[in-house]
Amino acid sequence: MISKTSIDNLKNQIDIVDIVSSFIELKKSGANFKACCPFHGEDTPSFTVSPAKQIYHCFGCSNGGDAIKFVMEYEKLTYPEAIEKIAALTNFNLEYDNNDSQVLNTSILDAVNNYYQNNLLSNQIALQYLYSRGITKESIDKFQIGYASSSNDTINYLKNNFFDLNMAKELGIIDSGSNGLYARFIERITFPIFLQSGKLVGFGGRTISGHNAKYVNSPATKLFNKSALLFGYNLAKESIFQSKEIIITEGYLDVVMLHQAGFTNSVATLGTALTSQHIPLLKKSDAKIILGYDGDKAGMEAAYKASILLAQNNFVGGVVLFQNGQDPADYVKEGRVDELKSLLLSPKTSESGFAEQKVSVKTNGVQFPRKYFVEFALDYIVKDNLGNYRFDINRPEEKQKILVKIEEFLSTLKPVMAEEFKGYAAHLINLHPKYIKTTLGVSSKAQKSDTQKNNYKTPNTPQNQMIDITEILILQGILNYPDKKDIILTALDSSMFDLHREEFEYLLNGNIEKLTSIIARTELQTLTLKEYQIQLCDFLLKYYKKQFELISKDKTLTFKEKSTATKEFRIIEQRLKGRNLLPFFNLRKN
Ligand SMILES: [Zn+2]
Repeated sequence: MISKTSIDNLKNQIDIVDIVSSFIELKKSGANFKACCPFHGEDTPSFTVSPAKQIYHCFGCSNGGDAIKFVMEYEKLTYPEAIEKIAALTNFNLEYDNNDSQVLNTSILDAVNNYYQNNLLSNQIALQYLYSRGITKESIDKFQIGYASSSNDTINYLKNNFFDLNMAKELGIIDSGSNGLYARFIERITFPIFLQSGKLVGFGGRTISGHNAKYVNSPATKLFNKSALLFGYNLAKESIFQSKEIIITEGYLDVVMLHQAGFTNSVATLGTALTSQHIPLLKKSDAKIILGYDGDKAGMEAAYKASILLAQNNFVGGVVLFQNGQDPADYVKEGRVDELKSLLLSPKTSESGFAEQKVSVKTNGVQFPRKYFVEFALDYIVKDNLGNYRFDINRPEEKQKILVKIEEFLSTLKPVMAEEFKGYAAHLINLHPKYIKTTLGVSSKAQKSDTQKNNYKTPNTPQNQMIDITEILILQGILNYPDKKDIILTALDSSMFDLHREEFEYLLNGNIEKLTSIIARTELQTLTLKEYQIQLCDFLLKYYKKQFELISKDKTLTFKEKSTATKEFRIIEQRLKGRNLLPFFNLRKN
């Protein structure tokens, strides 16, 4: 964390006019400065900066605040990110509390990135490889593509420039093995990966010497978390906010080529699936999402999982599946940009006959036939990648199986969404909508009520007859938030679990491999940490309430015992209602 004093010092030192004018052009107007507002379109300047008050205000759209607020708004950054940006702009050295991530001297990353870029220019094989893929010199510069040569070259470079090798290790540039130090990237084209603020945090690398792993990324470091990053976001940000659309692909080269062809709102996941950790970043722009995935089995599966995640988080957009092993890069390279454009502008499910397109929705003058992610997920549940039903639609017992899957999925959505797509689901399996239930359990906060039963039967699966969604969500949270694991486990006790006590005990004993039944339930809504905290506190509250009721009714207990338990229960209740956890407490211990 950036230290408080450091922030205060920075604030003292900066001048709002300097900061704002490093982003937009200001004109002096009396005691103030004026400009056309960057936050709403206008021709006559109503955006005013007051050097005396050190604030800005727009009389057109009422956006206003101090220099930090301006950078947050203009660059779409969080508070600490904006502070860091301003510090960088003004050459201010921030100080950090508690030896945290930012203490890492990331200038090594920048230096190594430069080094890789220079390497590329003198390596004909690597350059030729990029040119043969259709990448231009402009794109190489824009994405700062480089080349990592031999392990020794990189290590010598670090040594010759007196870089701290331990720091280089911590930043994932080198590592040490039984034969001493070695570079993480060897004979690979390098793609630097940035935070949205423009801070370099790691690399992706593609082999050009036929190494087994075609792509590798920096290892997880204090800065580099591949499950939360999107390649190219720093460059695409502006275009995403403007077009209100984002194209998510699976490859670095796809992103480079898409940008080259004018799709400057393209990004890629870092060789991983789209995860719940990407959601906050995606929420920022409120953009429609177009998933551009491979049309093979693995690509469809990935698109399905991503669709579920996006549907549960209320994103709209669609899926484009590229057929015959073609990826977006191929289209651009072969000059089939128009074809690509029409594909991306009309995302649909597959060539092979999934349900027909939705009616076009007109947005900003562009015909954009949307297919909601819910529809894609429902299609996938019902039909395989070749468009064939996954079951015999004429056999009721098989239809029932699919129905259960559909209901499980719909019940994880917001009730309004679930209702909306009930008809579509019914149509898919040729059933009257009234037979489709969309509220199987409490998975969405909106439909939560104490009286609602959480358990439901999964017919036709003799093993694991019953599941309890709340219990599963509690367990999933422990897996999803490993750094909070200890606190959560201290708050829980196996007596709190009815149906999934066994799984809880596996978790407690670290038998993660036995928990696939929990992990595999991807149809359930992925909770953010905050949502999870609420869910967990409610779960605990319910448990303690029940314990308290049992104690109150217990005739074997004395009045004194009961009144102690009452006092204790009130304290616990207050804590949990305030969304604070507490170590497991046995009300009966007295
Ligand atoms: Zn304005």
